[in-house]
Amino acid sequence: MRCGLLGQSLAHSHSPKIHALLGDYTYSLFEVAPERLADFLQSGAFDGLNITIPYKKAVIPFCAELSPQARRLGSVNTLLRREDGSLFGDNTDYDGFAWLLSLCGGVIAGEKAVILGSGGAAATVRGVLEDAGAQVVTVSRKGPVRYKDLSSHKDASVLINATPVGMYPNNAERPVSLRQFPKLRLVLDLIYNPLRTRLLQDAEDLGIPCQGGLAMLVAQAVRASELFTGRKLPEGCNNFVLCKLQKDLTNIILIGMPGCGKTTVGRLLAQRLGRPFFDADEELIRRVGCPIEDFFARFGEPAFRQEESEVLKELGKRSGCVIATGGGCVTRAENRDFLRQNGTLVWLKRPLSLLCADGRPISKLEGVEALYRKRRALYEQFSQFAVANCGTPEDTVTQILEVLK
Ligand code: NAP
Repeated sequence: MRCGLLGQSLAHSHSPKIHALLGDYTYSLFEVAPERLADFLQSGAFDGLNITIPYKKAVIPFCAELSPQARRLGSVNTLLRREDGSLFGDNTDYDGFAWLLSLCGGVIAGEKAVILGSGGAAATVRGVLEDAGAQVVTVSRKGPVRYKDLSSHKDASVLINATPVGMYPNNAERPVSLRQFPKLRLVLDLIYNPLRTRLLQDAEDLGIPCQGGLAMLVAQAVRASELFTGRKLPEGCNNFVLCKLQKDLTNIILIGMPGCGKTTVGRLLAQRLGRPFFDADEELIRRVGCPIEDFFARFGEPAFRQEESEVLKELGKRSGCVIATGGGCVTRAENRDFLRQNGTLVWLKRPLSLLCADGRPISKLEGVEALYRKRRALYEQFSQFAVANCGTPEDTVTQILEVLK
């Protein structure tokens, strides 16, 4: 079978990776310009397709028949070519969002849910929430309820971002401030790149349960695959694919005192996992064009920290990498946000007497013990877990992999 994804800009799509786990069919990316859409759909170059931005509505006139769900939502994300060559349009985003919601315990009939955005995904979310009995408010820049009206809906208990605000490459953006909704008990963001958007980071900081859009992406793909092949996939398939994808996409980020072995261990870990490796200090040297000690001596620590944050902002947007950071990255709170959006942060601990101080201006200036006293709590705050680096680098890598399992 020839399947694939139709859209306009597909460079960052995870769909080929997901479908490779699901079925024995080819899955290609079809980037098609709007003026070529009709020719492409009539060409017969595919047996089954997923549809993404901006064609979920545009393909409807080419369908001989729509599923009841696709007709109701006015949105098609799956196309099947039938034996007579005609096209059948379905909507598996509905199944995707329903599964994401179920992972979070669903909604209670009557509770108020605010959806941000009024595009195709918002319509699907609305359908699922209404079917579950929620009272749904759609907020849009141009519809009857606008962002300036949000104060009338501060009693909402569920909020869903169905806009692209916060999506790569504009990761620092958030569509709203969550502080205006004191009763929220759940925040969902349909965006899956980054895995943890700024909105979800805000929710985490406020202690509100939250989830990104990866689970929806996986579940819609699983259902689409069943439609392509006509074969039911085993129970547990969504979970299996979600765990695999989440693991593959999450960066492993090493933090810790200067000279604690982050670069050596990081490089080895990347090798072991077959992942790309980035060293923030090396990126910084490339960026500023001179050794760190020279830059420090000429421009001072604040200028150095600013350059370091710029490097981490870009590195943090990557996924599936191993990243070694500079020892002082924890001194700026914003660096935590850059790093945790796609990463698990591991604190590499090494006895102070074993730390290497070569080429490390702050260790030399302040002395490692004073530096450790100042930073210890910050390493704790930044990291999800700590691993001792006291034996060989190989031992440390094995320990990290053990914890990540
Ligand atoms: P869409 O049809 O283009 O709709 C997006 C809506 O967001 C627009 O209708 C617009 O609503 C609002 N919007 C766009 N730019 C905005 C901005 N700068 N500020 C505020 N609002 C803005 O796209 P879509 O297909 O619904 O997708 C929306 C998001 O969901 C995307 O990030 C997409 O990646 C994600 N998505 C994820 C999955 C998944 O499986 N996880 C599936 C589908 C979509 P107003 O004009 O009314 O304000």
